[in-house]
Amino acid sequence: MALQDKTLVCRDCGEEFVFTAGEQGFYLEKGLLNDPQRCPACRASRRRERADSQRQMTTVVCAACGAQTSVPFVPRLDRPVYCNACFEKVRSGAAEDQGIVEDQGTAEDQGIVEDQGTAEDQGTVE
Ligand SMILES: [Zn+2]
Ligand SMILES: [Zn+2]
Repeated sequence: MALQDKTLVCRDCGEEFVFTAGEQGFYLEKGLLNDPQRCPACRASRRRERADSQRQMTTVVCAACGAQTSVPFVPRLDRPVYCNACFEKVRSGAAEDQGIVEDQGTAEDQGIVEDQGTAEDQGTVE
């Protein structure tokens, strides 16, 4: 039985979107029997909202100015964390070669948040 692209209507925005044969195959593989209810854009934004609501903020002290700030990940002890203002400065300047910038910048994306949770493994969480 060959799968064919299907056109579905998103229940959130009402736009038509294509449920491709490839995606259908993926759904079958995963044992998902229902067609997706939302277009990829709405699915992505719902995922983001969920991730945001699950995101645990950690209160830290800025390594540069000493102000309290919160970051959406558990910082590692071997790595400085900055408040937003200082982070902006750091990003535009000197700290680039220390590899700090990439890490903190991409923590905004969901992927890294898990990675940064390793403080638990290190026994630094009470
Ligand atoms: Zn939509
Ligand atoms: Zn600061």
